[in-house]
Amino acid sequence: MHPDSLAVHAGRDDLRRLGVHALPIDLSTTYPFESLDDAVGSLDAMMAGGGPTETGGPVYSRLYNPTVGRFEAGLAALEGADAAVAFASGMAALTAAFLAARTESQSHVVGVRPIYGTTDRLLSSGLLGMSVTWTDADGVADAVRPDTCLVAIETPVNPTLDLVDVAAVAQAAGDVPVLVDSTFATPVVQQPLALGAAMVMHSATKFIGGHGDVLAGVVACGDAWAARLRQVRILTGAVLHPFAAYHLHRGLATMPLRVRRSQETATALAARLAERDGVGAVYHPSVDGRDPAGLVGTQMSGPGPMLAFEVLGPDGRADGPGAFAAAGGFLRALGLVTPAVSLGSTDTLAQHPAGLTQRVATGEGGLITAGLVRVSVGLEDADDLWHDLDQAIAAGRTAAESA
Ligand SMILES: *Cc1c(COP(=O)(O)O)cnc(C)c1O
Repeated sequence: MHPDSLAVHAGRDDLRRLGVHALPIDLSTTYPFESLDDAVGSLDAMMAGGGPTETGGPVYSRLYNPTVGRFEAGLAALEGADAAVAFASGMAALTAAFLAARTESQSHVVGVRPIYGTTDRLLSSGLLGMSVTWTDADGVADAVRPDTCLVAIETPVNPTLDLVDVAAVAQAAGDVPVLVDSTFATPVVQQPLALGAAMVMHSATKFIGGHGDVLAGVVACGDAWAARLRQVRILTGAVLHPFAAYHLHRGLATMPLRVRRSQETATALAARLAERDGVGAVYHPSVDGRDPAGLVGTQMSGPGPMLAFEVLGPDGRADGPGAFAAAGGFLRALGLVTPAVSLGSTDTLAQHPAGLTQRVATGEGGLITAGLVRVSVGLEDADDLWHDLDQAIAAGRTAAESA
């Protein structure tokens, strides 16, 4: 079935049998059982990483929730995955993926930088009792060791929109499983499992939720990984609330429309920004030179809905205090566009990675220019957005000149 049809219908198989049209929200924290034997059987099945049994039911909502389960089935279908496991946030999903990959003798991760600032910080901190070797996409084969349990990548990369060749990394990783943070692409733009990834993760807070009102994460994968992720989720408790799952599942139906519209507008804005005085590098896979391996059209169905660009300081530089002041003035002058972190909402959001999202990364992971601003393109009219960006670039320059 076409992904657009799956987005509308997947995960809703039982609705007709239930005699309902909208997704039911099951808020039970506990589930009455008829027979103790049936409850024991269901508990054992879930502790082993499976779903509840028909007769035993979910027992307790930290083990399983049907509203969450329907969203997971919908998302899994869109990723071409056996299963998906949803969490309370993107970072909870990443944490569970790292812990699921970890074994007694293997606790080393190879991470490709740059990567989302908090992911960088989580792995660098050693908080999970895991060590990390940071490298670039070409360095994966050399960085893998006998105790490596996972290779972690992100593509497109936050905030530079660099593209990482998933199939090439999977090949370089050999037997080591590859986790792809596909938040910037969504299942509409790429499906990393088909390219050899073992797990694909999303901050569902972003385009999957799509409306800026749900914090969530999800990992799509094969059945064996899903079983381990569910076991981690049961024990660590970072479950998704059924209200959040309802909103995510409802949003899946319009996700292809939203993402394609934002992608089209991002492409138009990137082209105009590339011609604009006072703008340095423009980072979008549609821009000349930004897709050297030709991944748009192969790995990705399009260049995606996220873009970034450098606001230049009065000295013409993309870095240094002049650029920082120009970026700050740009953000302050925005009218239609919302100055805020996060991404994937219906409204266009702009933020400053060096000052905010990437600031939490350590060392080399945080190295980006002071003039870089990242834009999550929303659903507004492209000309309206251009007028706002254009006037804010001018205002930012004026502010920096008088600073
Ligand atoms: C936001 C984000 C995360 C973290 O997700 P939360 O839902 O904020 O926990 C991870 N990776 C990327 C690329 C993100 O944009």
